[in-house]
Amino acid sequence: MKVAIIGLGSVGAAVATAIKNTGLVHEMVLFDRDGVRSQAAAMDLGHASAFSFDVKIIAANSYREIKGSEIVIIAAGANQKPGQTRTDLLAANADVIRDIIPRVMANTDPKRVKIIIVTNPLDVMVMLARDLSGLPASRVIGTGTMLDSARLRTILARHLSVSPMSINAYVLGEHGDSSVVNWESINIGAIPLNDFCRATKISLPQTTRRTIEHRVQTAAYEIIKGRGATWDGIAAAVNDLLRCIINDEKRILTVSTCAPKTNLAMSLPTIVGMDGAIQVLTPRLSSMETVALRESGRIIKKNYNNI
Ligand code: NAD
Repeated sequence: MKVAIIGLGSVGAAVATAIKNTGLVHEMVLFDRDGVRSQAAAMDLGHASAFSFDVKIIAANSYREIKGSEIVIIAAGANQKPGQTRTDLLAANADVIRDIIPRVMANTDPKRVKIIIVTNPLDVMVMLARDLSGLPASRVIGTGTMLDSARLRTILARHLSVSPMSINAYVLGEHGDSSVVNWESINIGAIPLNDFCRATKISLPQTTRRTIEHRVQTAAYEIIKGRGATWDGIAAAVNDLLRCIINDEKRILTVSTCAPKTNLAMSLPTIVGMDGAIQVLTPRLSSMETVALRESGRIIKKNYNNI
């Protein structure tokens, strides 16, 4: 399996490292418009082959070198500076996607290629990439709220004293400030959250829930304030998505893909496998969550109409 990564900044480089360390692929092509940066990344990571999987890592000078890639990961573009929202990146990163997608499509097999979008604002970039590529919605997949869901699961895990891996909890909607925590469908193991809290005598009142939601929604801002960008969490999310596709795992992930009728991209629980986003599922929502999700969709659509 050959994959390409476009954009070798903080995120792209961390994604390359995460993928390299799993040995999931035999060849990785790294492209950045700053060729010096991608050369350096390929050289540095290439040296790690002496310690773990011997993945062929190529720094591409042109898009011709991504030929044969079955999956292309796009992590290029401006990132948030302290105080900026993801939406502030809209115009600049729409231009980045407009630059990249036609070149990717000219150098990959349109019948096979899957595009993973990481660039923010995520959902709008998925819609734009879908428009420009002409690919089926199932093969233009945004990491969506995979990271937000992971943040929710880890925060809840500490509160409930169980492993995050035993928590099925999803953040839905926009990968952004209007994301929605789907409390209604949270299970701990096989046990609904409220039943779990009753059985373990752990209290989770509305005030604590609101605090958890706030922590999930503001996590990126906090990390950016402290280290200038976020990369470890998203790199793990991309690697998990890649694994799910390559191994045809058919796990349920909150990726962002375009809905067939409305063409609106937002994150919903989705079965993911070798064919990409195979089926989007309808989660159980409270009435408040339904309203919030509709509003999240409205915001994504408005931002899309602005580019
Ligand atoms: P960065 O500034 O460190 O790196 C961006 C890289 O993109 C640079 O190396 C730059 O040269 C390259 N680039 C820009 N335009 C390009 C083009 N047209 N073609 C090829 N390369 C190009 O930024 P970063 O911190 O790595 O973040 C990258 C993107 O990922 C941002 O949009 C950021 O908001 C997003 N992000 C998304 C998530 C998520 O959950 N989806 C999480 C973190 C970051």
